Amino acid sequence: MSIPPPVIILGAPVHPVTFEGFLDAVAAFIDEGTSHQICTANPEFVMTAQRMPEFMRVLQEADLVLPDGVGLLWAARRMGHPLPERVTGSDGIYLLAERAAREGWRMFLLGAMPGVAEKTAAILEARYPGLKVVGTYPGSPRDEDYPEIARRIRAARPDILLVAYGAPNQDLWIARHKDDLGVPVSIGVGGAFDFVAGVQKRAPRLLIRLNLEWLWRLVTQPWRWRRQLDLPRFVWRVLTTEHWMS
Ligand code: UDP
Repeated sequence: MSIPPPVIILGAPVHPVTFEGFLDAVAAFIDEGTSHQICTANPEFVMTAQRMPEFMRVLQEADLVLPDGVGLLWAARRMGHPLPERVTGSDGIYLLAERAAREGWRMFLLGAMPGVAEKTAAILEARYPGLKVVGTYPGSPRDEDYPEIARRIRAARPDILLVAYGAPNQDLWIARHKDDLGVPVSIGVGGAFDFVAGVQKRAPRLLIRLNLEWLWRLVTQPWRWRRQLDLPRFVWRVLTTEHWMS
């Protein structure tokens, strides 16, 4: 299995894969057995990485960076390297669970508010018979919580670790600990558990189709407005960067 070379958007790599390519990469990473990191990127990731070299490095060293935000598809198309589709953590979690049930992959759900990962596990296990969620735990990305998290993950021996601590903390956390934990695939999934458990309502399909999911999140989670300022900043940077390159 070879992952196509990434499109570089303002210095950050984004891989031109489909949902199917994502699942095949997970299978290959599990076969390899060593630890791998997958990021679910959007324009906010790319802008955070401009300000935080450590986060840029995590994206550059990740084994797979998925195009989770529609702004990345727009930017890649403008650059003449279109990405095939939006591969979101929120839809990907269902497809991953379905494939995991078939393949016997063991999943561990780390993060979100207490009870949310457990509810997510119950919903996925009911929907995909045979799915093995071998552990859930809220914990936190703080260093003092790491020993307990590591103990639980080692005891559960998952193939896949989903981490919901929000970006960039979840991705920095995975980069810091993945080799110590030795889980074949770790994925930062942001608010995906909140969506599965129904704590947050995903945008209606029509809005997603109209590429307006970001607007839905701004209206339903207005406290995100400050970080969502990164969206117009991203658009501006893509437009002007292209301008001075040409
Ligand atoms: N979260 C957590 N611990 C923290 C910070 C965040 O468990 O210290 C969880 C939060 O409950 C939510 C997820 O991380 O489930 C972040 O979701 P968000 O939609 O903000 O993700 P992002 O858009 O940042 O990727």
